[in-house]
Amino acid sequence: MKFSDVTFILMSAGNSARFRSPVKKQWLRVGEEPLWEFAARRVLAEFEFAKTIVTATPAEARIVRAISDYEVAEGGETREESLRNALTIVESEWVLVADAARALTPIEVIARVLAEKGAADSIAPALKVVDTIVTEDGEAADREKLRRVQTPQLSRAAALREALAAKSGFSDETTLIAAFGGKVKYVEGDELAGKLTYGGEIAPEAPSGAALIGQGFDAHAFEAGKPLRLCGVNVPSDFGLKAHSDGDAAIHALIDAILGAAGLGDIGTLFPDSDQTYKGIDSAELLARTVEMITRFGFKVLGADITIIAEKPHLEPHKTLMRKNLARLLALRYERVNVKATTTEKMGFTGRGEGIAAQAIAVLGYHN
Ligand code: MG
Repeated sequence: MKFSDVTFILMSAGNSARFRSPVKKQWLRVGEEPLWEFAARRVLAEFEFAKTIVTATPAEARIVRAISDYEVAEGGETREESLRNALTIVESEWVLVADAARALTPIEVIARVLAEKGAADSIAPALKVVDTIVTEDGEAADREKLRRVQTPQLSRAAALREALAAKSGFSDETTLIAAFGGKVKYVEGDELAGKLTYGGEIAPEAPSGAALIGQGFDAHAFEAGKPLRLCGVNVPSDFGLKAHSDGDAAIHALIDAILGAAGLGDIGTLFPDSDQTYKGIDSAELLARTVEMITRFGFKVLGADITIIAEKPHLEPHKTLMRKNLARLLALRYERVNVKATTTEKMGFTGRGEGIAAQAIAVLGYHN
């Protein structure tokens, strides 16, 4: 069904504060798709809108833009602020605002909401309350009069803009518009339109079991008098590696391999040389931040293999400690991380002893 006077806004900029998983809720995987993409695709398979806007945190906006062709509005501190940002790029008369966290909302519920377009300033699905509701003091509330309001909610864009400009602190559009004197209407909701709050609810649609592979390469020139760090381990040497950071070429190659497997770009984009916060930084810290990021996006590291290419110093005595340290940093068993060292038989820049290079391969899977 086509709704050329409706813009679809998918709210996906939440911080998952109540979510019991290291993966951010909107990046939980359904197959290989993040939840927000799954939620949008499901709705767009049934309805056609003037435009689709996905809200995303500033840190995630770049990736949402790269993955999809939807317009992206950067999220603010609150849902209301994200909505305000999204409304700046809305041109249609109506907006249908849905939550990525309500990814399993039955299509019939969305159809019921859309069917009432024009009947009120804001239309939302709602459910009767079946539990006994009491106040803190044990006073019973009249549950016949209470409703649990869900999304998606269809609102007149103008009414919403006006209400948002005047009032704040509301958790949804219908309540806000009602408080502003607008006409609201409720249609029958559905338990399946509930929010994923604590994880586990989407279990029937498990993430993909695919193994994702990435490779990385890095090289740094020697610098006299600097400590030499490889795989986060101090290696006795008269030379360290010249770099903006501590110069740990092995960890840099590993970070690029991990980002490669996750399809999340490269180390230079994530930790730019131009950013003074990374000056002299311990590369183990960069690796920890990388792992934290890919975890939020729904990935986990399953294993890594690293080759360090150096004519000097002799690395053999340090390999076990390097593996142990990387296994610890990646929270993996020792056997899942391998570190190899080779020379290039005096050939090339490493052979001439000008510096050290490293190659890495990482295997990632989806979190479940
Ligand atoms: Mg580097």
